[in-house]
Amino acid sequence: MDEPGLIARLRECTPRHAGTRLGIGDDAALLAPPAEGTLLVVAADTLVEAVHFPTGTAAAVIAERALASNLSDMAAMGARPRAFTLALTLPSAEPAWVDAFADHLGELAQRHGIELIGGDTTRGPVVVVTLQVLGEVREGEALRRDGARPGDLLCLSGVTGEAALGLACLLDASRSEALHPAERQRLLARFEAPEPRLALGLALAGVATAAIDVSDGLLADLEHLCTASGCGARVNLERLPTSPALSAWPDAAQALDARLAGGDDYELLFTLPPLAAARIPFLEHEGRVDISVIGSITARKGLEVLDLDGKPLAPARRGYRHFAERGPG
Ligand SMILES: [Mg+2]
Repeated sequence: MDEPGLIARLRECTPRHAGTRLGIGDDAALLAPPAEGTLLVVAADTLVEAVHFPTGTAAAVIAERALASNLSDMAAMGARPRAFTLALTLPSAEPAWVDAFADHLGELAQRHGIELIGGDTTRGPVVVVTLQVLGEVREGEALRRDGARPGDLLCLSGVTGEAALGLACLLDASRSEALHPAERQRLLARFEAPEPRLALGLALAGVATAAIDVSDGLLADLEHLCTASGCGARVNLERLPTSPALSAWPDAAQALDARLAGGDDYELLFTLPPLAAARIPFLEHEGRVDISVIGSITARKGLEVLDLDGKPLAPARRGYRHFAERGPG
């Protein structure tokens, strides 16, 4: 498939946005500026074969993860996504690969109501997907990392750790032999098709004092949030959510490590002023996801993890190491 064919294939797969004056096909796209009192939100993310996903990963999974990681950044800002650009590097544009990639990207773009407004394709030694997403947020309501204050409640959507164990299953199928097939499937789906928490992000806009999405690992991303806010945090292990699949994982230490430091879950980690605790059921309803209060923000800098007996725990690591460092499987 040649480059014009590839772009034509991709352009037909996403919905049109009302604010787009000129979409794909010219040197650049033309967009109407956001409405008065609204800010434009921009994020970009790159996925590289053998670094962010194993060689041979299905095209649909690559499309899913590329879009989800970018939409998760929009969710973490409390933004509503609007459009995106795509820069795609491929060793060869195999029609079956491009079809599967475009079909899946189109399906997701439809689901989230976002338009592909431009991009670029190049030939290169490995698959590299760079997406840039544009969104909007009401001025003064964006969820930043630097607004957490001592005494704030530390909250987490969903559960962390399942995506990292899903990747572990992909790299070594024998790891999951002891699991029920439904639990194994759950872990794989959390790695291959993460759900960006966009509805929760919108509900948190103007409510949460700070937010970040958990892409690098719970403790690593918490550290980013605390550093930006100039404070510390305490995490109570007994309040950290778990799941049947995490509990069934045969190596309990590895499961705990995945929950604290696994990465790739794309859950939202956010802080609420104590008085906003009463709003959590509403936020769960709006965000269509469970929320756990896993700890609190402290004036003392640094992270403290308390184990089930309330004693300080020293986790083996805080965050994601690119899987290339672990050696691609
Ligand atoms: Mg992020």
